[in-house]
Amino acid sequence: MENNNKNCILQVRDLHKSYGTGDSEVKALNGVNLDIYEGELFVILGSSGSGKSTLLNMIGGMDAPTSGSIVFRGREIGKFKDRELTNYRKNSIGFIFQSFNLIGELTVRENIALVANTKNNPNIVEDNLKLMGLLEKKNKYPSQLSGGQQQRVAIARALSGDPDLLLCDEPTGALDYETGKQILRQLEKLVREYHKTVIIVTHTKEIAQMGDRVISVKDGRITEMYENENPVSAERVNW
Ligand code: ADP
Ligand code: MG
Repeated sequence: MENNNKNCILQVRDLHKSYGTGDSEVKALNGVNLDIYEGELFVILGSSGSGKSTLLNMIGGMDAPTSGSIVFRGREIGKFKDRELTNYRKNSIGFIFQSFNLIGELTVRENIALVANTKNNPNIVEDNLKLMGLLEKKNKYPSQLSGGQQQRVAIARALSGDPDLLLCDEPTGALDYETGKQILRQLEKLVREYHKTVIIVTHTKEIAQMGDRVISVKDGRITEMYENENPVSAERVNW
């Protein structure tokens, strides 16, 4: 399938990341190349320690590569000044973590409002509370919610930054099977109905069936890259 009519929003070129030096050097990423297209569900599959989180953190501007480049909408993020990088993280990227990373002292609504970008939509907090089915929970604290509800808050929070790209690092990793599936349905809905661009990192190979495109990562390298012509719906994925 050709990508001629798709908009490439992110290009990763020959990305390397090492931790430590000499004998203790770990090459977490060892020459990664990939393109992300607008509106796709992209899956990064790999076992623990393969470099998935490192790759996602680089894409999200949370950490800098040792060498190589990441170009977002035509601009290399490695050349951003501090302020541009902060804006990139805040306005272009939404991050969803395995462990939700909500602020325990803030209510659901406050967690979301804290990072909300109301420029294009003054009601973005309310809209995303509603989208994630959280309106009745908005005055609760994270500890009063189930894991699945907390992850929906994290998704609503990420969406309320009005990002171009949603990065999800093992979003179902801390959830039971049914709840994990619910979260995958939500992420799928964001791509299929709301035309968001979503990257899901997972170590579960069945989840990769959901992706429009998939890469397998091992020892910091891409070992396989393929396209699913007919991605399997979250509903029908079993693992
Ligand atoms: P994954 O997310 O696929 O489990 P990571 O990207 O977290 O893999 O890690 C890739 C490799 O880099 C592993 O060997 C890990 O131990 C190492 N690593 C990751 N972060 C650091 C760090 N901050 N310091 C040292 N080594 C790290
Ligand atoms: Mg990881």
